[in-house]
Amino acid sequence: MVEPGANYAKVQQALQTHGRFLPPFPASIEYCTVGGAVANNSSGEKSFKYGSTRDFVRGLRIVLANGEVIETGRLTSRELSKSLA
Ligand SMILES: Cc1cc2nc3c(=O)[nH]c(=O)nc-3n(C[C@H](O)[C@H](O)[C@H](O)COP(=O)(O)OP(=O)(O)OC[C@H]3O[C@@H](n4cnc5c(N)ncnc54)[C@H](O)[C@@H]3O)c2cc1C
Repeated sequence: MVEPGANYAKVQQALQTHGRFLPPFPASIEYCTVGGAVANNSSGEKSFKYGSTRDFVRGLRIVLANGEVIETGRLTSRELSKSLA
């Protein structure tokens, strides 16, 4: 989980200490935030192989302009069918 304002490069450094990484690597990595990358669906040098930022987002907690907090996430095909019905 990453909070608003988290610097992309610092998150990357923290992940690397656990042998993991956030694949897209936008060229602005040193000064952009993970939230900005999500909002832009940023891609980068490794996106041909791994995909863009949206491929690595499990869910979002979003504060709407009216103050309401919503949570988003991917639906299974069964959940989607149920929701559409
Ligand atoms: C030199 C340079 C190189 C770049 N290289 C790349 C690249 O290789 N690939 C690429 O895809 N893009 C690139 N970009 C574009 C951009 O910097 C990236 O897409 C970056 O990930 C955006 O992150 P940011 O933190 O700078 O966002 P910002 O520019 O600060 O914000 C972008 C948008 O996201 C919104 N936002 C930010 N944080 C949140 C949040 N927590 N919740 C909701 N909304 C939020 C802002 O309101 C704004 O609308 C580059 C830009 C520059 C200047």
